[in-house]
Amino acid sequence: MPDVQPDPAPMTYRITNTALKTIANTAQQSRDGLETGGILLGTDHTSDVVITSAGTPGPKARRASHSFHRDLDHANQLATLAWQNDGSQWIGEWHTHPSRDLTPSELDLTSYLRHVHDPELRLDRFIAIIVGLTTQQKVRMQTWIITRTHVLPASLLIHEADPR
Ligand SMILES: [Zn+2]
Repeated sequence: MPDVQPDPAPMTYRITNTALKTIANTAQQSRDGLETGGILLGTDHTSDVVITSAGTPGPKARRASHSFHRDLDHANQLATLAWQNDGSQWIGEWHTHPSRDLTPSELDLTSYLRHVHDPELRLDRFIAIIVGLTTQQKVRMQTWIITRTHVLPASLLIHEADPR
C-alpha cells in the first residue's frame, strides 16, 4: 500500500487593489521600450500570501530593454515604511517585459534563485510579477512563484480588506 499523504494546504496568492493600481500605472512607463518595475511588499504565511503594496522604480533605477535594476535606496525606504505601517516585508518584485513575453528570462531566474538561496533573506519563496502592455496599452500580468526547486505560474486573487 502506498502511503496516503494528505494534500498540502493549497496556497492562495492575493494582491490589494492599491498594489495593482501602482503596477498598472507605473507599467505605462515601459511604452518607451525600456523595462520598469519595483519591489513587492506583503505578508507570507504558510498558506496565504498577500501583496499589500508595490513599489515604483525610484529615481536611480537603471532601465534597459532587457533588464531592470531598481533604485536600492528607494526600495529600502519603501520597505521600511511598509514594515512600520502594517508589518509588510519584501516578498518579491515586479517588472515589465516590453517584448510581451511574460515568462522570466534567464537573467530574471538567476536573480530570483539568488534571493531564495540567500540565508540572510530567509525567503522560502519569491513572488515575481511580469507585466506586459498590449497593443491597446492594456496591462497583462503573470505571477510566478520561485522556490529553491520550482518555478510555477500562479493566479492572483484580489485581496478584500479584513472587516474591522
Ligand atoms: Zn525580465
